[in-house]
Amino acid sequence: MSYLVVQNLVKRYGGVTAVDGVSYRIEQGSFVSLLGPSGCGKTTTLRCIAGLETPDEGTISVADKVVFSSDANVNVPVHRRKMGVVFQNYALWPHMTVFENVAFPLRVRRYQRTEIARRVHEQLEMLGLQGLERRFPSQLSGGQQQRVALARALVHDSDLLLFDEPLSNLDAKLREQAIFELKKLHKKLGKTIVYVTHNQVEALAMSDVMAVMKEGAIRQMGPPREVYNEPEDQYVATFVGKANAARGRVTTSEDGRVSASVGDVAVEGVAQHDRMFRVGEEVRLFFRPEVTRVHASTEVTGTNAWVAKVDSVAFLGEQTEFELSLGGLAVRAVQLSMSTIREGDLVVISVNPNDVRIVAESQWGEA
Ligand code: ATP
Repeated sequence: MSYLVVQNLVKRYGGVTAVDGVSYRIEQGSFVSLLGPSGCGKTTTLRCIAGLETPDEGTISVADKVVFSSDANVNVPVHRRKMGVVFQNYALWPHMTVFENVAFPLRVRRYQRTEIARRVHEQLEMLGLQGLERRFPSQLSGGQQQRVALARALVHDSDLLLFDEPLSNLDAKLREQAIFELKKLHKKLGKTIVYVTHNQVEALAMSDVMAVMKEGAIRQMGPPREVYNEPEDQYVATFVGKANAARGRVTTSEDGRVSASVGDVAVEGVAQHDRMFRVGEEVRLFFRPEVTRVHASTEVTGTNAWVAKVDSVAFLGEQTEFELSLGGLAVRAVQLSMSTIREGDLVVISVNPNDVRIVAESQWGEA
């Protein structure tokens, strides 16, 4: 049974519709991220769930209890929703020590002193913050502040945790570390997490389910692998990663296998959702740079093996990124570093037909 259910959520600010009819169901214990560019309505959705904003329309229920309903006129106040929230800037109280910050949600809920001390110490220990109880936020590193904010969200045993870009103030290395730590913590605690981010790496790495948002609406929702490998349209394909996408016409289509011509080039692939295509139908052929192999020899032949010219080579340490031209088509490829290929070389590039998705041109849309 779904734990968090959001139905037809709408939030307007004057003439701006920040959230435009969002609906989803989240299973208990799952890690769900809302991913999208700045201004797409992620934060507003999260604030509506927390009770920090009042939606104009819709219903929100948690564990079968309605916490907001525009029709039934229900709006449970923030402190009675029993949710833990971690904000981008952590929102720690600067004049309170680490101990007092973490204890705050318990004091508001009138827990007893001994219970407060027990719970705060338990959280600080779990997050490796013991010994820092008396420090003020300004005396902590960014990573430590982030963990204090996390301890404060966890301390009153809420089953639902809401995160709004909690890693964006960390530098790249700390953020990478924090991704692994958050993932471990989620596994250990089994809490339901809704996580807002504009960073696709965070969403791909941590989520059980990700929802890609645009202009107040969800464009696609599913497990990260599914969203990454089978994006429904160009917007999703390019927001969660890099994409090669060529326009072509179907030459054969049978049992989900499709052949198409892209100019003079013949390409084979798999129809998204086993859809049937007509011969002559206009389609997009979509494949990721990392499934595009670059062979130093031009002798390699076979299905989906094409001679291409190397336009640029970027050495990125463990990986090398290539830009190639195949007829009039620009193709990107990424692979573990190899030293022999240079700009201007003729090479063969190949893609396994199972890694090429065929999507109807009318569905592909704008980025
Ligand atoms: P970011 O990643 O930049 O935080 P977001 O996807 O979380 O972006 P929201 O903060 O939810 O986006 O904003 C969605 C839209 O609503 C934007 O157009 C924003 O300008 C507008 N908006 C948000 N809060 C308010 C407000 N308090 N008053 C007026 N407009 C607002």
